[in-house]
Amino acid sequence: MKEMQRESQWPMVSVADAQAAIAALSATPLGSESIVTHHGAGRILAHTVHAHADIPAEPRATVDGYALRSSDGTTPRRVVAELTAGDGQQLELAPGTAVRIMTGAPLPMGADAAIMVERTHESAGMLTFTGTVRAGECVLPVASDMHRGELVIPAGAVLSAGDVGLLASMGIKHISVFRRPVVAVLSTGDEVYEYDEPIPFGGVRDANRHALLAAVQAAGCEGISLGIARDDEALQRMKIREGLMRADVLITSGGVSMGTRDFIKPLLAELGTVHFGRIAFKPGKPTMCASVGQHIMFGLPGNPVSSLVSFEVFVRPALRRLQGDPHPHRPQVQVTLADPITPSPDRPEYQRAIVSWQGGQLVASTTGAQGSSRLLSMRAANALLVIAPGDERLAVGSMVDALIVGEVR
Ligand code: AMP
Ligand code: MG
Repeated sequence: MKEMQRESQWPMVSVADAQAAIAALSATPLGSESIVTHHGAGRILAHTVHAHADIPAEPRATVDGYALRSSDGTTPRRVVAELTAGDGQQLELAPGTAVRIMTGAPLPMGADAAIMVERTHESAGMLTFTGTVRAGECVLPVASDMHRGELVIPAGAVLSAGDVGLLASMGIKHISVFRRPVVAVLSTGDEVYEYDEPIPFGGVRDANRHALLAAVQAAGCEGISLGIARDDEALQRMKIREGLMRADVLITSGGVSMGTRDFIKPLLAELGTVHFGRIAFKPGKPTMCASVGQHIMFGLPGNPVSSLVSFEVFVRPALRRLQGDPHPHRPQVQVTLADPITPSPDRPEYQRAIVSWQGGQLVASTTGAQGSSRLLSMRAANALLVIAPGDERLAVGSMVDALIVGEVR
């Protein structure tokens, strides 16, 4: 029988050093692809877009009413035509005349203003109106929405619904965006079963692969499931190799601790170059990172909370960088504690919390017991409180740093 090892062979690195190593590994985006613009929301633009034309190309009416010459003053005008949006008519307006015009229709030549129908009266072909009319009134001037040559969207922008509209308004049907990383996820453990299998004595349902694949997808990547590997070294080696063939990034869960059947760390070391094998961090101390060529491998712990928090703090920024996001980290803000917190004595801890906007400040309530097996501590959590190690309890009202990882409600 194999003897138990008493001490980890992997030196402990700081969170900052682990993040720096991962940043170096993921510094270069994977490449780009062309997609149709209307599939662009959430994708990251790989090229800068400049306006290639003025929008609008001609002055347009911003109201339903009449186009006229302001220099004619308040005298009644003879109504000579009607222009509707899209009717394509190009008229010239003589002094003393007006045309009926609808919102979005180009102004006739010579007209410099429009007046809204509510201020007008038309009878026997003559137009009268209340008040005066200013040059430029109710007119959208040429290039007022966008100037030819203007920078519209920089490379690296995460495209919003508004951006998709902007690109469409410019007649851009195809865009170049960074490729989504393909991420393979493997669960390990003799005790781990599919959620629709019967669970024997001592078994647990596989939460991690499903949770990690969901997180991978939410990070903008394509996930591949490698299933569950029993704690068998040869089988796990085969699964890791399969992951490396099929994906840009490989994530495993479980099998990275000091147990006699924890094979992932020696396997990642055998198959690649190890960048670190332990992090001074809670929950998720045994997290490992290795690489082979351009492929990055993360060995995450088996406890469900540890694997998801480690994903958030270490893996997600790499996945965002690989798809060209110049801001791969979650926003970090200061929040006020609504519940007291006991720090870990020796490691920085990322505690799950619900942050909300209350009375002009961001207030954090805990999600309850922070055990690394208790997935309920992730329920509704939209923040990770970054708690420095220490032995002083943090009182209600203390300010702490928080990574905002979900919508603030
Ligand atoms: P390990 O990191 O393999 O030592 O596993 C640590 C703990 O997490 C053990 O209690 C495992 O049963 C549990 N665990 C491992 N993998 C999973 C998984 N995929 N889903 C849920 N729990 C797991
Ligand atoms: Mg295990």
